[in-house]
Amino acid sequence: MKESPQDKKLDDILRSSRLAAGGFMGSDPRSVFDVIDADAGVLDELNVTKEQLAQRMRHITDVAKSGLGTWVLIDENLEAMVEEARGMLVCPWPHPGVFYKRITTVRAIETGESIYWSDLNVHLIEEHGFFEGRGSDFRIEPAELVRLIF
Ligand SMILES: [Zn+2]
Repeated sequence: MKESPQDKKLDDILRSSRLAAGGFMGSDPRSVFDVIDADAGVLDELNVTKEQLAQRMRHITDVAKSGLGTWVLIDENLEAMVEEARGMLVCPWPHPGVFYKRITTVRAIETGESIYWSDLNVHLIEEHGFFEGRGSDFRIEPAELVRLIF
């Protein structure tokens, strides 16, 4: 894909540590648009849209909120915990968007396999199809997430 100056700027912002510790791209050498394209392909294969995924994530966070930092049963296979942190996170895309630094951890009861996300992750997935670069603290593998929460 040919990069416009705006694309280049976004890629630079996502790689800088200004908005998130370590940046959003981790050690991923691919461009942000290649990361988005590859993850969109994974979702296509699994027949799940990013909107469905974000909706399910938001539902899990909403249910788990009531536990105030303790594990809450989501369904027969899944439990989740929400930890509130002070402060806000800003969406790196050029539009207004500020999100609570709230972390949701979801865990398969049987296997103990777990994945965590911030409210910003849900927004990045839903609005931008962005699961972050490999090596980023908040990178989510779409195939693992779909397998765990659907
Ligand atoms: Zn955004």
